[in-house]
Amino acid sequence: MSPASRSDGAMFANILEKIAGDVALAFSYQAEDVVVLHLLKTFVTRPVEIFTLDTQKLFPETAAYHATVERFFNVRIHARVPDAGATRQLEADLGQWGMRHSLANRHRCCKIRKVDPLESALVGKNAWITGLRAAQSVTRSDLCLLEYDTTHRIIKVNPLADWSEQEVFDHAARHRLPLHPLYGEGFRSIGCAPCTRAVGPDEDIRAGRWWWENPEHKECGLHLRPSPLPRGDK
Ligand code: SF4
Repeated sequence: MSPASRSDGAMFANILEKIAGDVALAFSYQAEDVVVLHLLKTFVTRPVEIFTLDTQKLFPETAAYHATVERFFNVRIHARVPDAGATRQLEADLGQWGMRHSLANRHRCCKIRKVDPLESALVGKNAWITGLRAAQSVTRSDLCLLEYDTTHRIIKVNPLADWSEQEVFDHAARHRLPLHPLYGEGFRSIGCAPCTRAVGPDEDIRAGRWWWENPEHKECGLHLRPSPLPRGDK
């Protein structure tokens, strides 16, 4: 990591040691998540459950990559799936592409496929770890290393909050971490197949997510902005 970065694996481990109760890592196939998983395996000794939200709209490459990451780190990534009845009704109401027709439709799809399974995954947890970075988007610019997520009423740890995209890829390259194959095809963020595209070299890192929407709407409801915890080390 470059000297400009303020958070590192030791700081991450130190924070986790002070958190009582169960902790989970939300793994979403981004390069950031692979780096966080690497920090976790390198610096953290306490048990941490790793889960992913299988929206059932992921790219075909993602399933193979899931297995690759499990093998590489010798971990189990638990797939949380949406309610079958709710997704059936969603498909009946919106069809295959209806999430692109309005913000309300898109939010409804994200709620059923992501937000509700996330809430279920966080039941009984005291903290969740994410790979979010402040520089990723305007909706994350005030992100802190340690926050209280008032929406989900849980501590949120963002060990890469102050990392740049370059630092993430440098770390991954230095430690030869496996990256999602779509990074090799022009993607700079990995999400659901209907809502994610490759981006051009001059486009914003999140330009390929929900590209038909305004930047301030580009969240799926998982990461509504919480409150920073009172700390001096952000
Ligand atoms: S990202 Fe798209 S496909 Fe995935 S849950 Fe949200 S609206 Fe649905």
